[in-house]
Amino acid sequence: MNRNSRRGLCLVLSAPSGAGKSSVGRALLEREPELRLSVSATTRAPRPGEQEGVHYFFRSLQQFEAMEASGEMLEAANVFGRRYGTPRAPVQEALDAGRDVLFDIDWQGHLLLRRALPGDVVSVFLLPPSLEELERRLHGRGQDSPEEIARRMQASRDEISHWADFDHVLVNHDFHRTVTEVRAVLHAARTTGARQPWLPNFIDTLLRP
Ligand code: GDP
Ligand code: ADP
Ligand code: 5GP
Repeated sequence: MNRNSRRGLCLVLSAPSGAGKSSVGRALLEREPELRLSVSATTRAPRPGEQEGVHYFFRSLQQFEAMEASGEMLEAANVFGRRYGTPRAPVQEALDAGRDVLFDIDWQGHLLLRRALPGDVVSVFLLPPSLEELERRLHGRGQDSPEEIARRMQASRDEISHWADFDHVLVNHDFHRTVTEVRAVLHAARTTGARQPWLPNFIDTLLRP
């Protein structure tokens, strides 16, 4: 790799379902033109309005397992009894081209991604202001059945217990404030030495007598 070319970074957003990571992620992508979304594969059914290849790659369990077996997945996990995973090729291509990639993945995916791409990951965990508010948001979204909402509320305690694995933790109380804070994390992560490989040359010219 050219010593001056910047490798992209991975920004992971995780949260219990309903805390707001899709909404925050969407707002982030609108405001950060250099950021690309990693589109996951899943075995769950599409919700109304969800499009193949935009929100997810919707796959049968058999297709999903075939992708996994052939090494096409960067990470894969069981979430709410279904399979979710990150296709490898688009992420590798974006990072090699110097583009930053946003991931909306669960806590297991976060740990697996860190292992797969050491040094490339910065992560944010979103908390709801309260469990009552979390349930209100899941109902308010109006996209999951009461049984599915009960399953997600059950899982939320376990999800929240993994908060300490993350680099940054935010309470998603005020939406716009949360978006601003996640952008601040992204901007700060772009200033490390590893993300600015041209720095040694620049320092040389700066200090040249
Ligand atoms: P929109 O895409 O036309 O709705 O544009 P907005 O700028 O209003 O919002 C961008 C995204 O953030 C959308 O996905 C909204 O659902 C979400 N959003 C913005 N503000 C709020 C808020 O205060 N609460 C919630 N729940 N979602 C918000
Ligand atoms: P997730 O992707 O984490 O499951 P969503 O982004 O779908 O969550 O958000 C769940 C619901 O909560 C949506 O209806 C969204 O509009 C709403 N929501 C997200 N953030 C906030 C917030 N800060 N205040 C109020 N409602 C919010
Ligand atoms: P939803 O069905 O609400 O879109 O997502 C359910 C959960 O699966 C969320 O916690 C989300 O972060 C997680 N998820 C989505 N895509 C992936 C993925 O590619 N890998 C992993 N590990 N989790 C994912």
